[in-house]
Amino acid sequence: MNCPLEDRNPEMLVAYAAGELDLETARVLEEHLAGCATCRLVAADQTAVWKALDAWDAPSVSPDFDRRLYRRIDEGVRFSWWERITRPFRPMPLRQALPLTASAGLLLMAGLLLQHPGPLAPVAPHSEIVRANQVENTLDDLDLLRQFGAADSAESVHPDAM
Ligand SMILES: [Zn+2]
Repeated sequence: MNCPLEDRNPEMLVAYAAGELDLETARVLEEHLAGCATCRLVAADQTAVWKALDAWDAPSVSPDFDRRLYRRIDEGVRFSWWERITRPFRPMPLRQALPLTASAGLLLMAGLLLQHPGPLAPVAPHSEIVRANQVENTLDDLDLLRQFGAADSAESVHPDAM
């Protein structure tokens, strides 16, 4: 017979190791195995795999496996739902807060530029009040971000190290 590996037919060696070949085919293959070290090696490896699988006892499934599985799936869904809602309010690391602070500054500048499109644009007293409110709001936001950053870095210090 031709070499199963050279014929791109390794399934024959797998079937042989599993004892699924008919007696005549198995006998012819064994003749080939006697003279082909590579096929002998593959067949021996495959036999070892089957023996290991036969010896392996799959752990039995606990009676309440389904119930616990569905509870964990449910918890996972609820957690991501809750996390999605609370994420914007949770303390953020400083490296995330800094770009936010920068964009807040850019927004402030954009607001100022929009209110003063050109040097000749008249500035009404009303816009001065709005601008003061915006500055105050932005400063409040920056303060909040700083507090988030401080809370975050305090959390990252291990209690034992303090
Ligand atoms: Zn061979």
